Amino acid sequence: MADATEPDPTCPICLQALAGTPPQDLHQTTCDHWFHAACLGQWFRTKRTCPLCRTYQWSRDTELQVPRFVREALLRRLEQQFVQELHLLAVWEN
Ligand SMILES: [Zn+2]
Ligand SMILES: [Zn+2]
Repeated sequence: MADATEPDPTCPICLQALAGTPPQDLHQTTCDHWFHAACLGQWFRTKRTCPLCRTYQWSRDTELQVPRFVREALLRRLEQQFVQELHLLAVWEN
C-alpha cells in the first residue's frame, strides 16, 4: 500500500488523475484516502463509507452533505437529551 499521507495518483471513484487538481478540489477521508472533492461529495449522497476501504466516515466528511442548520438542530436535540438524562440521573441518585 502506498504512503497514505500522499495523494494517490488517481481518484478511486472516477479513475482520473489526482495530480494537477487544485488542493481545494481534493478531499482526504478520515482514513487518509484521497479523492476529488466533487466525486466524494456525490458518493456521500448515498453512502457514508470510504469508497476504497469502507471505513465509516465521521463528521469531517458528513459536513459535505449535511447542511449546517440540520447539524445544529441535531446537536441541540442531543444536548436536550443529555440534559434530560442528567436530570433523570440526579433523580435516581436522590
Ligand atoms: Zn474523481
Ligand atoms: Zn479509506
